[in-house]
Amino acid sequence: MATMYKKVFFGKNIVDHKDAQLSIASSAVLYGLSVYTVFPVSQNEKGELIAFRLADHFKRLLQSAHILAIDTFADQWTYESFEKATKRLIRANAIKRDVYVRATVHVTSEIAGTRSRGLVSTLSMFVYDAEPILRATGARLKTSHWRRIPDFAIPSRAKVNGAYVNSVLAKQDALDSGYDDALFLDSLGHVCELSAANIFMVRHGKLITPDTTTDLLEGINRRTVIELAKKELGIEVEERSIDITELYIADEVFASGTSANIAPVLEIDKRAIGNGSIGSLTELIQSRHRNLIHGNDAAFTSYYTIL
Ligand code: PMP
Repeated sequence: MATMYKKVFFGKNIVDHKDAQLSIASSAVLYGLSVYTVFPVSQNEKGELIAFRLADHFKRLLQSAHILAIDTFADQWTYESFEKATKRLIRANAIKRDVYVRATVHVTSEIAGTRSRGLVSTLSMFVYDAEPILRATGARLKTSHWRRIPDFAIPSRAKVNGAYVNSVLAKQDALDSGYDDALFLDSLGHVCELSAANIFMVRHGKLITPDTTTDLLEGINRRTVIELAKKELGIEVEERSIDITELYIADEVFASGTSANIAPVLEIDKRAIGNGSIGSLTELIQSRHRNLIHGNDAAFTSYYTIL
């Protein structure tokens, strides 16, 4: 388990980790009624600490709250106040290395029943060491018998804490079966995403990823990879439905995410992908993405917030 730093942001203040407490009667605890995001903070080549796509992470947090009708979050927070809170948190912990920040909006009203509008919401943020959830050298996936929760049940587009029970079921089953992660299909049987990362394949020199109606989380790194491929690498990108058998015969497959980075997928359901080793396009995207998220790509400076 990753190391968590001592000072956290809770409500409006920086407090010790042990003093940031949620009530056992809050909707956050009773129903998993919280939404969250995780963003990376890294040191760039100049030694500055930067947050990657902070404004997009805040926007996704707002949109997740909006989808769930957790309406008091937008009333209390603007991007400017969120950025200020992030800076306070990073300084309070004297961060000097690559970390992840998890920002969560909890519904903290007590015994509120199964509703969300007009309730008290509280922002928490904490910092932990950036330890990727998948190896950069390659992952082996198992298609899960657990299906991704459809948009008409619990929307994956909103990053809802309670919905992660679905990811836990799939990931634990994959680990129990000796794999590194699960591959989710959507309710129609199309390739969706991993337990906490998006998926891409390479076929006929094109980069292809499930479109956003496939019950997936609209990952910020998914978008970054698409932009990198189109704008910087001149690679054609398609967003469309993918069958599982199409993945089996893809030239390359990789996963993207804040905690996964770019992770090559070398095997799915005991079938080698391509020649079973990291593909050349995956390798290129992996190294460009690493450079990009560390704040060192001049073409993407608008994505960097100096903390
Ligand atoms: N899908 C799921 C289910 C996730 O939890 C994550 C991690 N946040 C992702 C995809 C990747 O999203 P991002 O690139 O924004 O980290």
